[in-house]
Amino acid sequence: MSTVSIVKCADYEEGRVYEAVKEAVELIGGASQVIRPASKILIKINLLSAKPPERAVTTHPSLVGAVVKLVKERGAIAWVGDAASTGGMGLEIRQRNAFDICGIREVVEREGGKIVNFSRSGYQKIKVPHPIRLKEINIAKPVLEADVIISLPKLKTHELTFLTGAVKNFFGCVPSADRSKAHRLAKVEKFSQAVVDIYSVCKPGLAIMDAIVAMEGEGPAAGDPTHLGIILSSLDCVSLDIVASQITGFKPQEILTSVNAMERGLGPQSLEEIKIKGENLRDVIKKDFKKPSAYRSFVRRSLRRLLTPLGIRLFRVYPKTDISKCSKCHLCEEKCPVGAIQLNPYPIFDYEKCIQCFTCHEFCPEEAIQIKRPWLVRQLQK
Ligand code: SF4
Ligand code: SF4
Repeated sequence: MSTVSIVKCADYEEGRVYEAVKEAVELIGGASQVIRPASKILIKINLLSAKPPERAVTTHPSLVGAVVKLVKERGAIAWVGDAASTGGMGLEIRQRNAFDICGIREVVEREGGKIVNFSRSGYQKIKVPHPIRLKEINIAKPVLEADVIISLPKLKTHELTFLTGAVKNFFGCVPSADRSKAHRLAKVEKFSQAVVDIYSVCKPGLAIMDAIVAMEGEGPAAGDPTHLGIILSSLDCVSLDIVASQITGFKPQEILTSVNAMERGLGPQSLEEIKIKGENLRDVIKKDFKKPSAYRSFVRRSLRRLLTPLGIRLFRVYPKTDISKCSKCHLCEEKCPVGAIQLNPYPIFDYEKCIQCFTCHEFCPEEAIQIKRPWLVRQLQK
């Protein structure tokens, strides 16, 4: 059996968050199971991009501070790491700034932890023991050096995996080039397998999810914050993601990172193996949680298979630029894994080449790239 705890926490007031984190971890057996004196604990946050905490793009600093405090109280060393998905000119400065803009640096230093910016600490090439998509990956060195890893994700929707949680959080442990390689796989099934390849080498010991304010709609960068008022915790990231998927109205089998991890023996072998402690699952389900556009097309896949090429075009979800927001930074052009974007002077998409991976949407610092749904899809989704 694996246990997932659900604890209510109304807001990000630091004392309240600390108490809720402590309770959530106590319910699954206590922090001393994984945090031992003098051990090096890597707290892997979600620092997707340099956005203030209220945008719900990144793990909230109050939660990060609470976990650093928990680690320090047990006499262990707390590293807080990630590398923001940013690029272009001044990459390193922008990544460093992301820790400040997201409010992480201040709280980590105050609680006696240490920031580890993966892009500065470097990467090491390793073989994935039982790969499906990625035989070799470059992994952030602190991941290999830590005694224990704690996954600290933000609960958000995602255009490719539909939901990003404790497993997908480890995608940030590989450098941009490897992330692009995985994004080139484009299809949710293959991309999810690549995510699990990365997860399989990270071997986290604990996960604590920030679902006080989650992100719904067009996540992981441009969705809407939505209040769920809970913190989840588990020693098993896959079990935690399965419970998170139920809270947000997905069917567990639709989150392919969970399915693939289960198939590979990296999580529970059935839903019956997951025990929930704390709040009752039924009481915390958000029935009207908004799904990302890609999910809505995914569930209609069987219908799309019956269509002609014209019909397929009518159903295709595609990226489009809002030029009033575009700063012509070239990041989308640089990050597109198939070279489907050229700036002249604003982004022009080659829709024949586009594989609908929505990396451009995820990376755009101005949220200028929107995901458009054709008329027919909009009608069906009403
Ligand atoms: S659409 Fe976004 S990423 Fe692309 S050039 Fe404009 S601001 Fe930069
Ligand atoms: S244009 Fe955007 S959605 Fe299309 S392949 Fe390039 S990055 Fe992916």
